[in-house]
Amino acid sequence: MSTENHEDLPRRSVLKEAAIGGIGLVAGTVVTGSGSERACAAIEQVTEKATWLAERASCVSGNRLLGPDSAGPVVTKAREIFLPRSAQEIADLVRSLPAETPIASVCGGHESSNAAAVASDGAVIFDMAHLKSIEFHEEGGRALVTVGGGVVFRELVEAVKERKGALPVGTGPGVGVVGYVVNGGLSGYFSRRLGLLGQCVTRLTVVTAAGEIRVLTPDDELFTAMLGAGSALGIVVDLTLEMEPESVVRGAEQRVISFETRDQAVAFAREALRFQADHVLPDEGVAMELVVTGTKALVATFVFYDTFRGSIAELVAPLEALAQRLELPVVASSHLSSWYETAAALWPVINAMKGSPLAMLQHCMGTEGPPTDAILRFLCDTVVAEAPLDEATFSIVEIRTLGGAAMAKKPLPSGNCRHRFFLDLITMYDAKEKTPAERREIADMTRSVVEKARGVEGLAVDFSGTHSQPDDPGSAVSPALIFGSEAMAEMVREQKKRVDPGNRFRFHPYAKFL
Ligand SMILES: Cc1cc2nc3c(=O)[nH]c(=O)nc-3n(C[C@H](O)[C@H](O)[C@H](O)COP(=O)(O)OP(=O)(O)OC[C@H]3O[C@@H](n4cnc5c(N)ncnc54)[C@H](O)[C@@H]3O)c2cc1C
Repeated sequence: MSTENHEDLPRRSVLKEAAIGGIGLVAGTVVTGSGSERACAAIEQVTEKATWLAERASCVSGNRLLGPDSAGPVVTKAREIFLPRSAQEIADLVRSLPAETPIASVCGGHESSNAAAVASDGAVIFDMAHLKSIEFHEEGGRALVTVGGGVVFRELVEAVKERKGALPVGTGPGVGVVGYVVNGGLSGYFSRRLGLLGQCVTRLTVVTAAGEIRVLTPDDELFTAMLGAGSALGIVVDLTLEMEPESVVRGAEQRVISFETRDQAVAFAREALRFQADHVLPDEGVAMELVVTGTKALVATFVFYDTFRGSIAELVAPLEALAQRLELPVVASSHLSSWYETAAALWPVINAMKGSPLAMLQHCMGTEGPPTDAILRFLCDTVVAEAPLDEATFSIVEIRTLGGAAMAKKPLPSGNCRHRFFLDLITMYDAKEKTPAERREIADMTRSVVEKARGVEGLAVDFSGTHSQPDDPGSAVSPALIFGSEAMAEMVREQKKRVDPGNRFRFHPYAKFL
């Protein structure tokens, strides 16, 4: 039991408050283990549960804003929220709770359905916010970084920059590294060259449902299962990632083109996606993303890797020519000259998306091979044309290339390593500006597009743990799609039975079928 280093101010004040309030030494302030005979050290606990969710969750599910309780703020249902500081504290706490107590873990708080942050009556949340360590080391010539369970991308990217490294990180500065990895996170910018971030993991420290601390390596079956379904299987205390040198990413070119009518956006998307399919998908030295935004911008980003052999100017020129032909102004041109600049490119845009609360619905769709003409037509004429971009102006449609290293490296239980091409439909709006009827209309428009996508031959819908909205009423999410194959889904089910037979870890995107 590690009791040193815990004489910190916040915890002392929690103890003091408990004493002042006459609460005494209740479970959660000082925990006496029922599984273990020892008393745990006092573990910091959230005292203001009502404000905790507003501060910790970056968004609120658009579906939660439709229900009967939607008039008031969305609040956590959890009985208690702890802020542990070590693997030992987590293990002691898990063992001290009754075996049937459900447990949720929160890292960056960006999961769009808030499954973990809202949890349920009687549940206990472990907020990993204090586990902020980032340690670099070398092993057999490999550059490694061990990241604590509460680290978010901004912190990791800034630290990796200093070491001149590169990792396939996600775009959101506040997204949790562990929350991303355990749900099959992918990087539209970097995964074609570096794989999924989960494919860079070499070691995991995990606390199991029985309260054991386990260090997992690739030889353990649970190791692989954690890198796609981890939020249903255990609590990650830290993970170790193998970095690549920053030189694997040469940089990126970004063009922002403004449009006025949706027809213009559709017309641009049609030709840009044809160009993407013909010239970018066959070349694994480059990634391309086209984003159509509710603020009436088309953002085309090309990321060039060390393996790119062509001319950067020649690849970008046709998109600029397309904008000119359609008489759409290029309002910004950026040249990003490193992995770091590319990784951080969207931080200011994402930070500007605020709401009270910020409502979100997330869906993805994609193909395992190159998209057919019919699929490209559907994405432009239905998804880009009908997504609620005007009604929910923070919304974006992101159309991205994948495949490459994500497909070539060892498969993980994630649909993300099977797809070569995909689209994220992210519906976002500031809820305080919308009436209940308007919120309903936005959700219905989103659902209508997604339901139409389910009927398109060759188009997989909601295959990603990070980009799928598990709380859509009646949505048919398929385990084989989410985990990449029926065999992977079976492996995950098997591990779930073995390591969490009581389903303590039930607040995750796969709750419907695990
Ligand atoms: C602005 C923004 C940008 C995004 N960019 C990308 C992107 O580029 N690529 C992408 O794939 N996704 C992206 N996402 C989606 C995001 O990666 C997922 O929602 C991710 O699961 C969020 O992780 P989190 O830790 O922030 O969220 P949380 O809500 O804290 O956690 C998400 C899930 O992980 C589980 N979890 C958290 N910590 C632990 C732990 N220690 N042990 C076990 N389970 C844990 C939680 O229980 C929950 O189920 C983005 C989301 C937003 C809002």
